[in-house]
Amino acid sequence: MTRLRIKVRGRVQGVGFRPFVFNLARSLNLRGCVRNTSGGVVIEIAGQRAGDFIERLRKEHPARSVIESIESEPVTGAEGIPERGPEGFRIADSEDDGGTTPVVPDLSICDECLSELLDPSNRRHLHPFINCTDCGPRYSITTGLPYDRRNTTMAGFRMCNECGREYRDPEDRRFHAQANACHCCGPRLWFHTVNRSFRQYDSGDPVTSAVKVLKAGGIVALKGLGGFHIACDAEDPDAVALLRKRKQRPRKPFAVMAPDVDTVRRFCLVTEDDAGLMLSHRRPIVLLKKRPGCRLPEEVAPGVDLLGFMLPYTPLHYLLFYHPSGKPNFRCLVMTSGNLPGEPILHDNGTAVEGLSDIADAFLLHDREIFTRVDDSVVRADFVIRRSRGYVPDAIPLGETGPAVLGVGADLKNTFTLTRENLAIPSQHIGDMENLETMQFFEETLDKLTSLYRVRPVALAYDAHPGYHTTRWAEAQSLEGISVQHHHAHVASVMAEAGLKADVIGIALDGSGYGSDGTIWGSEFLVAGLRGFERLCSFRSLPLPGGETAIREPWRIAAAWIREAAGGDALQYMEKTGFLERYGEERINEVLQVAALREFTPRSSGAGRLFDAVAAIIGITGTNTYEAEAATALESRIVEGVSEYYPFETRPTEPMTVDFSAALAALLEDIASPIPAPVVSARFHNTVVTAVTDVAKRLHRLTGIRDVVISGGVFQNLYIRQRVVGRLTAAGLRVHCNRLMPPNDANISLGQAYILREMLKQ
Ligand code: ZN
Ligand code: ZN
Ligand code: FE
Repeated sequence: MTRLRIKVRGRVQGVGFRPFVFNLARSLNLRGCVRNTSGGVVIEIAGQRAGDFIERLRKEHPARSVIESIESEPVTGAEGIPERGPEGFRIADSEDDGGTTPVVPDLSICDECLSELLDPSNRRHLHPFINCTDCGPRYSITTGLPYDRRNTTMAGFRMCNECGREYRDPEDRRFHAQANACHCCGPRLWFHTVNRSFRQYDSGDPVTSAVKVLKAGGIVALKGLGGFHIACDAEDPDAVALLRKRKQRPRKPFAVMAPDVDTVRRFCLVTEDDAGLMLSHRRPIVLLKKRPGCRLPEEVAPGVDLLGFMLPYTPLHYLLFYHPSGKPNFRCLVMTSGNLPGEPILHDNGTAVEGLSDIADAFLLHDREIFTRVDDSVVRADFVIRRSRGYVPDAIPLGETGPAVLGVGADLKNTFTLTRENLAIPSQHIGDMENLETMQFFEETLDKLTSLYRVRPVALAYDAHPGYHTTRWAEAQSLEGISVQHHHAHVASVMAEAGLKADVIGIALDGSGYGSDGTIWGSEFLVAGLRGFERLCSFRSLPLPGGETAIREPWRIAAAWIREAAGGDALQYMEKTGFLERYGEERINEVLQVAALREFTPRSSGAGRLFDAVAAIIGITGTNTYEAEAATALESRIVEGVSEYYPFETRPTEPMTVDFSAALAALLEDIASPIPAPVVSARFHNTVVTAVTDVAKRLHRLTGIRDVVISGGVFQNLYIRQRVVGRLTAAGLRVHCNRLMPPNDANISLGQAYILREMLKQ
């Protein structure tokens, strides 16, 4: 007879681990107990087949669990292990042992729960909160550790007899399912109209009422898993246009939800990998190329050839689509975050009804509280663009252990990152730090994650930009801190993901970041390590007449750039290419006058500005109503199969500069010819790819370094990303890019934390 105490660490709570252990122990005739502790799961067993037990634990653990380590030690005495008894093996009370265990991200509804949901003979038929040990809310409802019902927002719901029986029955798939609920005892859903003309659709059944409002072209705000969504029928152009008007969101694409992959395929091209991602329990929004002749109204995603699609992930989502006839109520619904412009997603009934009453005609509300808000995640091909629901709070392994630190991130697309032992724990998407609400969301999430993971950071890192809100916040803390240059942090984020420590060739292309010389950078070629970097090359800066205004209206940058590159021939070029007519001679002259005044015309080497300017010159769009709009539209216009590129010069300055003046002249000639815009767009993209790969190869020859890191928002551009990776790999270099973290400023916090952590180790 062997007696063992086994400690299992990893993602072992909220994934059906204890029930699995229970059944395994019983099948092997072992006596003992299993308990959740704040540090993992502790199992005590006694019996002949203890060795088999550990082996099968390793091999057969539940699909959603991740085992990091199994430690076992022999136990003397009978402590905790009953000698005999009818049960022999039991689930013991949870214990707080001071350790921590990863909290599980929210999981989409599983197939079994879905079939019960739609089965008229099941007692949970059409129950909007059905879930089990394999599925349902986790991170968003967890208030503390260990993961038990009392540490979730389900604590206030008393299970009915039937639910309680399932919860206690080891043979049941809801054995210890902490969010277990049914029609009798679970959260309630209700319908609330704020627009009188939709009151007629209130049928008594909340889902039916909401469906009727949507069918009538109305807008419904619904409380979801991580916050509110605002929905309308995506195939109804008037409804989508109305939503745009009310949300004050002229052009930024809306995400769309469709009932299944086949429906998505009617509108978009879906690879097998895309389908797998959409069906995974993370259920992100996946960016897909529109099918030629896509029949969805242009208003859903104007001016771009990508659509963000996701599948339903809560029972309530499925109920909105479900019709007993088998034909879904809708083919697709717009599902956009329920927030006010620039503010974080709303998550409680009171503030949502107050805040969204001017946008929504009706509300679908419920009384299961969202403790932590998490937006939908966004994925493109094999990398994330927004890392939130379904991903957070998963940790990123950092190899060896190190001190606990905090990277506070950047001001745009903010996330923060905590480190603890050998892990980095990035927060969900927080947003743009331009208002008090977002700053509060930052602080509230920091409180929650530090307490869930029991991290006490010993130092913090922040961006070198003195004007960032995050910088000012960091400076007001009592913790010691360091500032990290923006593009150095971008590069370090990839080093963290790839486990690199030695110097790399770091290429960071983005919109803007504060440079070490006080100017705005954004097309940086660095030789970087974790202790510092050297800036060896960048693109020649472009003039921004009027500063911020020029970023919102990049045609102004274009005008000043044409003047700078073409000199006295500028107006002639503008005329030949239609630029003069498009933006108006008078306005252009005003801009050129401003451009001549240094104090009103800062310069920026941000690569984003280059894309913006070219989009304006080609005539795709001269304004940005949301970040990277012009650049996204420019990428959308590329025609495949073009290999030519425009000439550019690399000047031996300190640091080297890549000057695209010659490219601009050739591009203007093309437009005047006229060469079609999609070909010009492709040639321009090829020019950037060629410049980037040329410089990288040059730096490799100069330094002998083989590891090339690419980061920054420009690498969300799939055309550029794939070609840069392909060509540098073909040249024998090892290319690393962000995959787990977005290429955009969301990765800054990870880079900051990684740099600071290494610094403290030395
Ligand atoms: Zn389930
Ligand atoms: Zn119940
Ligand atoms: Fe950046």
